[in-house]
Amino acid sequence: MSTTERPRILVVGGGYVGLYAARRILKKMRYGEATVTVVDPRSYMTYQPFLPEAAAGSISPRHVVVPLRRVLPKAEVLTGRVSTIDQDRKVAVIAPLVGEAYELPFDYLVVALGAVSRTFPIPGLAEQGIGMKGVEEAIGLRNHVLEQLDKADSTTDENVRRKALTFVFVGGGFAGAETVGEVEDMARDAAKYYTNVKREDMRFVLVDVADKILPEVGPELGTWGREHLEKRGVEVYLKTSMESCVDGHVVLNNGLEVDSNTIVWTAGVKPNPALARFGLPLGPRGHVDTAATLQVQGTDHIWAAGDNAQVPDLVGRAAGNPNAWCPPNAQHALRQAKILGDNVISGMRGFPQQEYKHANKGAVAGLGLHKGVAMIVVGKAKIKLRGRLAWYMHRGYHGLAVPTWNRKIRVFADWALATFLKREVVSLGAMENPREEFYEAARPVAAAAPAGAKSEKAKAG
Ligand SMILES: Cc1cc2nc3c(=O)[nH]c(=O)nc-3n(C[C@H](O)[C@H](O)[C@H](O)COP(=O)(O)OP(=O)(O)OC[C@H]3O[C@@H](n4cnc5c(N)ncnc54)[C@H](O)[C@@H]3O)c2cc1C
Repeated sequence: MSTTERPRILVVGGGYVGLYAARRILKKMRYGEATVTVVDPRSYMTYQPFLPEAAAGSISPRHVVVPLRRVLPKAEVLTGRVSTIDQDRKVAVIAPLVGEAYELPFDYLVVALGAVSRTFPIPGLAEQGIGMKGVEEAIGLRNHVLEQLDKADSTTDENVRRKALTFVFVGGGFAGAETVGEVEDMARDAAKYYTNVKREDMRFVLVDVADKILPEVGPELGTWGREHLEKRGVEVYLKTSMESCVDGHVVLNNGLEVDSNTIVWTAGVKPNPALARFGLPLGPRGHVDTAATLQVQGTDHIWAAGDNAQVPDLVGRAAGNPNAWCPPNAQHALRQAKILGDNVISGMRGFPQQEYKHANKGAVAGLGLHKGVAMIVVGKAKIKLRGRLAWYMHRGYHGLAVPTWNRKIRVFADWALATFLKREVVSLGAMENPREEFYEAARPVAAAAPAGAKSEKAKAG
């Protein structure tokens, strides 16, 4: 961390908003005008819309993340967590990856912490649930699903086999519908390499408390998406919730009970709870309360945007809804970040702030290879696409939207290679504990002795 005479712009969070806002500030800033410091516990930004495809193995996990130090060479990037902020002293407390926490003073602050999975106190969920917010979870899910096929293929116990081949997904928004679509496609495709596992042996269950899935693309395409998944054999239960999943025994409130080793939780997000320690005005659901200029209410040197902010939706308000807020999605996060960056520069120079106003451009979702839905807004018209064409729109849009040409080229290369080569179906679950085997080989005999001695003793006893 550098000590500096220049004003410091502290960007908390290096996700969509943090990355794009920092880039914009650095682009518009005069040489030496300020120091831009970006703090994130990860050294990379994650392009979350690609997580379902990373889980399915269609994109290499490395290509869905963007290294912050590489794309922000003129910024100071700190890998750590901002734990609290003292607004009176204008000081943030940074908890680095290792070592003592320290204080970092700032002059201007950008709050871009994003969201975390929204969970409920469901028995068993914390122990059994798999989230879908980070690339680590996407890789973990892929390894886990393929490992279930390995287990089912090699066991003689029918209960073990059935549990391994049952996959439950809770939440049918973008993240849930795309993840079940991609994972189902990948797992059934992988079945051809297994002697004792057939496509139809697998059971996929999608549960949502709402009366539809994919609300982002509207009711008509949402209905098509549900029927499409059902045709592929996914059991979709709407207006249904999961009551418990202790030891993988899933109980739904419609009476259905299934045993599963795979419970994927994609039932929405909530603003990052760390915001409670930032001393900022929060809205009723925990978002930072932000004006249309993205300035935090009551301040002139703090800005917030993206999933952790409640930003008034000026287009919705002009259309007659006084309570319209921008939904938490990448479309808004990206555009807000650019306005936010410009406003930080204007704020530093004492110029007026511009308001954020963006009309929804539509939404695209992939549901596995060559399947998808797309709703494109052109003026007042909504173009609705489904199937292969929508899937091309999904890929075209996200392939071009992922930050940096480096990543765009790598992602398109992944897709191009997958057209000619078969999908990888290997589970590298051991990657999560790579030192285990070496430790077994290398550990001192003495380290093993007490455990062995104890068990011998226990046997004797
Ligand atoms: C599986 C999935 C699929 C999606 N698909 C789509 C889609 O198709 N279309 C679409 O529009 N949107 C989609 N979204 C939503 C979109 O990705 C988010 O709206 C967007 O990422 C929000 O950007 P953000 O900057 O607010 O948050 P994030 O991008 O989540 O960034 C927040 C950053 O803050 C960091 N952070 C957290 N705590 C701290 C701390 N204490 N200190 C410092 N840093 C911290 C995090 O590590 C993270 O890097 C999807 C989301 C998911 C999970």
